[in-house]
Amino acid sequence: MPRRARKTPLTKNRRRTRPEPRVSKASRAAKASRAAKASREKWVYLFDEGRGDMKELLGGKGANLAEMTRIGLPVPPGFIVTTRACNAFLAAGNQFPQGLWEQALAALRKLEKRAGRSFGDPDNALLVSCRSGARFSMPGMMDTLLNLGLNNAVVEGLAAETGDARFAYDAYRRLVQMFGTVVLDLPDEPFEHVLEEYRRQRGLENDAALPAEDLKAITQSFQRLIREKSGRDFPQEPIEQLRLATEAVFRSWNGKRAVDYRNAAGIAHDLGTAVNIVTMVFGNRGEDSGTGVVTTRNVSTGEREMEGDYLSNAQGEDVVSGTRPTLRISALKELHPKLYAQLERYCEKLERHFRDVQDVEFTIEQGKLWMLQTRDAKRTAQAAVRIAVELAWEKRISRQEAVLRVKPEQIDFFLHPQFAPAEKKAARERGDLLATGLNVSPGAASGVVALDADTAERWSKEEKKAVIMVRPETKPDDVHGMLAAQGILTSRGGRTSHAALVARQFGKPAVVGVSAMEVDCEKRQLTIAGRVLREGDTVSIDGTTGELFAGKLETVIPDLKDPHILELLRWADGFREMGVYANADYPRDAERARELGAEGIGLCRTEHMFFETDRLPHVQRMILARSDAERDEALATLLPFQREDFLGLFRTMKGQPVTIRLIDPPLHEFLPSHDELLHDVTALETRLELLKGKPEAKGLEERLAQKRRLLEAVESMRETNPMLGLRGVRLGIHLPALVRMQVRAIFEAACQCTREGVRVFPKVMIPLIAHSNELRVEKELLESEARAVMKEQRVKVAYQFGTMIEIPRAALTADQIAQDAEFFSFGTNDLTQTTYGISRDDAETGFLGEYLQKRILPENPFATIDQRGVGVLMEMAVKLGRGTRPKLNIGICGEHGGDPKTIAFCHRIGLDYVSCSPYRVPIARLAAAHAALRLET
Ligand code: PEP
Ligand code: MG
Repeated sequence: MPRRARKTPLTKNRRRTRPEPRVSKASRAAKASRAAKASREKWVYLFDEGRGDMKELLGGKGANLAEMTRIGLPVPPGFIVTTRACNAFLAAGNQFPQGLWEQALAALRKLEKRAGRSFGDPDNALLVSCRSGARFSMPGMMDTLLNLGLNNAVVEGLAAETGDARFAYDAYRRLVQMFGTVVLDLPDEPFEHVLEEYRRQRGLENDAALPAEDLKAITQSFQRLIREKSGRDFPQEPIEQLRLATEAVFRSWNGKRAVDYRNAAGIAHDLGTAVNIVTMVFGNRGEDSGTGVVTTRNVSTGEREMEGDYLSNAQGEDVVSGTRPTLRISALKELHPKLYAQLERYCEKLERHFRDVQDVEFTIEQGKLWMLQTRDAKRTAQAAVRIAVELAWEKRISRQEAVLRVKPEQIDFFLHPQFAPAEKKAARERGDLLATGLNVSPGAASGVVALDADTAERWSKEEKKAVIMVRPETKPDDVHGMLAAQGILTSRGGRTSHAALVARQFGKPAVVGVSAMEVDCEKRQLTIAGRVLREGDTVSIDGTTGELFAGKLETVIPDLKDPHILELLRWADGFREMGVYANADYPRDAERARELGAEGIGLCRTEHMFFETDRLPHVQRMILARSDAERDEALATLLPFQREDFLGLFRTMKGQPVTIRLIDPPLHEFLPSHDELLHDVTALETRLELLKGKPEAKGLEERLAQKRRLLEAVESMRETNPMLGLRGVRLGIHLPALVRMQVRAIFEAACQCTREGVRVFPKVMIPLIAHSNELRVEKELLESEARAVMKEQRVKVAYQFGTMIEIPRAALTADQIAQDAEFFSFGTNDLTQTTYGISRDDAETGFLGEYLQKRILPENPFATIDQRGVGVLMEMAVKLGRGTRPKLNIGICGEHGGDPKTIAFCHRIGLDYVSCSPYRVPIARLAAAHAALRLET
């Protein structure tokens, strides 16, 4: 029962009339001690108080600014408000924790002292920026404000001091605009419209050429806009500006685009952002000023050359937003050779210091170079490999580190489709090469043009279309569309533009800065050299070369011949402890797998050979046979086919293990479907009815009889749950002649190879064992046939006999099963299906999607092993199996065998090898090395 509030007698003292919250002495003391602790906590660090290894507390940007200051690079003085302060602010419902603001003001005073300027002093103003900076870089996803400290009086002072009213008002209009959009959350468009109108009146292309009086009028319009739209004035008090800006940057941690980005990049949501308050330096103070972004090496290709963009007389945001065409950094060499050399020296120092390629922002203010930011550079997969290998060659990092620096998934790029050279040539000849832009993120992609992020996302997700998202330039708000698209294309922007950064990070092919392309988002069309493409038309982009084509181009998979990747994989092979095998059914797959580094075949699904058109009729004859003699005859026809298949595999693998699994699927899979047959029979019956008595009826009667026989046979084999029915070992026991034929084919091929001097190592594997007795029966049958063949052929072949573990009971009784099995291979497709009781054929196209979307399951258990369930069974089977047979050889051959997370798990539980599809072999080699190195450290 709810307790009733005790009534408090009315007294004169009104405050006493309210029921007092019932707070115990102890909790009051705890609260007081928390508050005291909060006021003692250090929330603010000057740059020279921090270090590079304090990223968790100071954010990546702040910690690196502190580190650059520490190693003597020219960084404008500043301070950092910590990520803990952000978390405390958000937890308290957007309230600064005690002590924070006082510390920030004290730090500001120190900045003033160092700069010899005062915040808000019209005659000698200090201006600062307020920049977000989380533990992990989230480019453009959170907010930043520049030029804080300007107001109606200070701007005049700045104009007088610099003798440049245009510069002063440009800085002020930027501040007011950013204040409106970032702090007050107003849309950007009304501000842009004002600017556009002034540009139009003057007939100008960009804002840089607007005169001072226009910028002053624009600033006033912006202030009016703020008043109208938000009902409050732009604050003239600089301290209030700083406070509101800091709060806005903290709040932007939970902004939609930041949350989306963190979800996509797998960044935790509870890290918080730091805020960096930095003395402003200006790149827009004339031709001896400028700003730029460089990476210390080429982050598209990995080549050892400084790379990036530069803009004279501009502020940083002009480079990143891609609104003004940038120059390549080499232009700085010509403009200011000494500054270029200085920048090169700083970059070299930074790369050595951080032991990785850096992405650096700098500003030149009237001939003085300032370093504004450094961080480990995002790079393409191709560059990641080359940089890691070359840094190891240069002895800056160890080979182990080099291997660990490349993510297994990045190898995928080298195996990814590229446009076939002949396709491209033909497209060029057809005149379909529309334009060339900057090749900022490699790979080939075709899809329909979508002109905004929402359309791109909708078409891709709901209509399952391949989409190329096309924009004049991208903004952080576009990330959801970019993630959904196959590729990204923009008409503006440089190598370091938002579009380029995001595309590289997520491995999306991208071409930016296609200046020949006009994107008209209102008419929903693109115009390129007079050619008009509408939204929904298909285009192809080559992010490796920067080309844009009309229509769809076919792709090819490249060879794994890049010398850097070969070297990296060689090193990885030296570190890994597990073998990497491939699942391959045909000699051509086996060959590809070997080229990609497979050391054996972990699964040959023999039934796949039965589906080939020249074999299927014999397989059907075997299934439908009404006598043993008829069946034996069909099997005898199949034998040479199977023998040839195995000969091909043995010859390709040259003595490496070839794991051959005997027949597995239910037999109805080899026959026409029941529904189809029923339909055919009914159709034939109807036609015969119409043709009754006519000569044409004769042939039809014959066909009808055949179809009816087939239908009868299919009906007799029908099962309600065929995946839990007569398949795997059960089928082998049911049809021993089929097993004998397969074993004979294996051993005849093995004997023939041995006679030819080709070494062979067959491993014969039985699927879907649930009970050890099943295995024993199969073993006897198989060994007697194998012995018979070897005796006939007078050749002895070493082989192994083993089983798949793909039913929970097999895992639970692995000790008994290991008495007969010399090896285990986890068939995790079936093991997941049978452990979860989820049909592997239906789930992924059905409810599993919903489960994943609603986070009922954290991951698709058919892609990454469910360690808590299926994984426990695997671990148990390993222990039980090796308890019986200590040298038991154990691997995995389900689809999970190519998944890096699963590979790490397999290493941990002591598997000897993983087996995956040929194209995942290089990924598995690297993932296995990571698993071994990570467990070591
Ligand atoms: C498995 O079940 O994991 C397996 C490899 O066999 P299949 O996919 O052929 O059933
Ligand atoms: Mg299976």
